[in-house]
Amino acid sequence: MDFNILLITTTNTNTNSVSMHSCDVLIIGGGSAGLRAAIEAHDNGANVLLFSKNRKGDPHTVLARGGINAALGTMDPEDSWMIHATDTLREGEFLADYQRVELLCKSAPDSVNELVNWGARFHREKDGRLTQRFFGAHTYRRTVFYEDWTGQEIVRVLIEQVKQRKINSI
Ligand SMILES: Cc1cc2nc3c(=O)[nH]c(=O)nc-3n(C[C@H](O)[C@H](O)[C@H](O)COP(=O)(O)OP(=O)(O)OC[C@H]3O[C@@H](n4cnc5c(N)ncnc54)[C@H](O)[C@@H]3O)c2cc1C
Repeated sequence: MDFNILLITTTNTNTNSVSMHSCDVLIIGGGSAGLRAAIEAHDNGANVLLFSKNRKGDPHTVLARGGINAALGTMDPEDSWMIHATDTLREGEFLADYQRVELLCKSAPDSVNELVNWGARFHREKDGRLTQRFFGAHTYRRTVFYEDWTGQEIVRVLIEQVKQRKINSI
């Protein structure tokens, strides 16, 4: 369903600008979550409008330096999504929603591989395997990283995909 949006934006100098847009899906927030959601909606045929307060490509995601977790088992083949989920639930004092943790841990390997296919320059071993290291309360080495700039690298790759698809972003 196509709908119209009237956007009133205020700049730092307190001047307002008014613009009219139409879209099927409006995504508010241009961090990793918003960028990836925009790609998914676009690839499913929606006319997407991505709107973010900060247009310079520096959402919180760029502060993530440690890395991204996925039970790929490149260093420790014993790892699995179930052990990842167990570690996550335990470290979260069993406060996290189990179904969301399950979804996250099951889909994390595909998400990391997708980023790699889109050009993310994650660290690799000499034999080509993605390097995974300990980070937080892991039973196995599970964190994939790009130098000290993992979040920035993820945002770079996702913005590139958004641009390639010519997704309308303001
Ligand atoms: C210092 C730090 C280190 C971290 N390290 C790691 C790590 O090593 N590994 C890890 O997995 N996670 C880490 N995290 C957590 C991780 O960065 C976040 O969970 C993740 O980036 C959240 O992504 P997001 O897209 O939901 O939010 P964000 O990246 O914060 O994006 C939100 C976007 O929405 C925009 N926005 C907000 N409000 C509005 C509004 N009203 N209108 C329009 N736009 C709006 C913001 O400008 C921003 O662009 C870290 C977080 C921090 C702060």
